[in-house]
Amino acid sequence: MRAILHVDMDAFYASVEQHDRPELRGLPLIVGGSSNRGVVAAASYEVRRYGVHSAMPTRQALERCPHAIIVPPRMDRYQEVSAQVFAVFGEFTPLVEGLSLDEAFLDVTGSRALFGEPASIAAEIKTRIRARTGLTASVGVAHNKLLAKIASDLRKPDGLCVIAPDEVATVLDGLPIRRLAGIGAKTAARLDAAGIATFGDLRQASDAVLWPLFGRYTQRVRDRASGIDERPVVADWQEKQVSAEETFDRDLRRREELLAELARLADRAGVRLRHKGLLAGSVTVKIRRADFTTYTRARSFQPPTRDTGTVLAVARELLEAWLAEQPRAAVRLLGVGLSQLSPEAQLDLFAAPAGGPRPPMIAAGTARTASLDPTLDQIREKFGKQAVQRASSLDRGPKEDGFTDARRRP
Ligand SMILES: [Mg+2]
Repeated sequence: MRAILHVDMDAFYASVEQHDRPELRGLPLIVGGSSNRGVVAAASYEVRRYGVHSAMPTRQALERCPHAIIVPPRMDRYQEVSAQVFAVFGEFTPLVEGLSLDEAFLDVTGSRALFGEPASIAAEIKTRIRARTGLTASVGVAHNKLLAKIASDLRKPDGLCVIAPDEVATVLDGLPIRRLAGIGAKTAARLDAAGIATFGDLRQASDAVLWPLFGRYTQRVRDRASGIDERPVVADWQEKQVSAEETFDRDLRRREELLAELARLADRAGVRLRHKGLLAGSVTVKIRRADFTTYTRARSFQPPTRDTGTVLAVARELLEAWLAEQPRAAVRLLGVGLSQLSPEAQLDLFAAPAGGPRPPMIAAGTARTASLDPTLDQIREKFGKQAVQRASSLDRGPKEDGFTDARRRP
C-alpha cells in the first residue's frame, strides 16, 4: 500500500502578506490586481466569507465585499517562502511533485521506516512549515493522489485528514461531484441533469448513463469516483534536465576552442547539478551550426554521477564524434545537458562496489576530481564564478601540457 501526502498551504499569498504585515491580520484581504481588469490571485479566509475566491475578477470581488483590502502580489517573496516549504518536503522524501508554489504531492511510502506512520510525517511537516515560515498548511493522507488531494481539502485551514482504505466509500459517496478533479462546470451541469450529484451517484451510475458523457473514459471516471487512482507521484527532478548553453559572439570553428567552451559548459552544468543535490545518468551535447541546423548527441551511463570530470569526459566524446563528421563546421551555439536525474541520497543504490569496474567511457584519472568539485563550488560561491577555472576550460591552443597554463590567464 502506498502512502501519499497532498500538502496545500492555506490561502498562501494572502497568508504570507498577513504574516509579513501584522496590521493586515484578521482583515478581508485580496492579493491581486486592483485595476478594472484585475483578478483575485488569493483571498484571505476573512474575505472568503463574502463569497470571494481566487480567479474572480477584482471588480466582482469588491461588489461582494466593498471594504476588502487589495494588495499587489509579491511573487519574489512567495517564491522565497515556497522554497522553504519545499525544503521541508525534501527532508522526508525525494519524491515530491510540485503542483504550484504552495501545493505538492509527496510519496512517503519509502520514508516510513525512518520517519514513522504517514500521519506522523504529515504532522511533522506541518510543524516544521509553521516553525520556519509562520504559516499553516493542510495535509491530506491516503494511499493515492486522488484521495490525498480530497483529504487535504476536507479540514482546511490548518487541517490534517487521513482517509483510510476502509473509509473511502463513506468519505467519498456524499461529496459533490465538482470536487472530482477534471470535472468542469459544463460536465457537472450535464451530470446534474442526469441526476448525478455526488461521487456515490457517479460510482453507481450505469454505462448507459455515463457513456454518452464520458465515452471511452467512462470506466476511468467511475474508478475515480470510487477512489481508485494508480497515478504515480512524478518527482520534479524526474522530468527535468540541468543544462548550460552558450551562443557565441562569433562562430567557432577550431576544435580546441570548442572543447574549451565545452569544458566551461560541463563545469557550469555540474555546479547546477550539485547545487540541486542531484546525480545525472545521461549527458547531452547540443550543437547549433551557423546556418541554425541543430544537432543533439546523448549518452547514458551507470552509475549516475555528480562529477564534472565524468560529465566532461562523456561530453567530449560526443562532441569529438560530431566533429569527426563535420570537421570544419561553424558553430554558433554549444550546450551541455544533464538528464536522467536522481537525488544524491540514492547514490548508494547505484554505486559500484569499492574497487569495482568503472564505466569504460570515462578516462583514467577522472575519478580523483570527484572530491575536488565541492571544494571548487565553495570557492566560487565565496569569491565569484571567475575565481577558479579548470585548466581544461582554458583555451590552450595547440598545447596540451597541463595545469601550469592557468597562470598565463590574466
Ligand atoms: Mg493553497
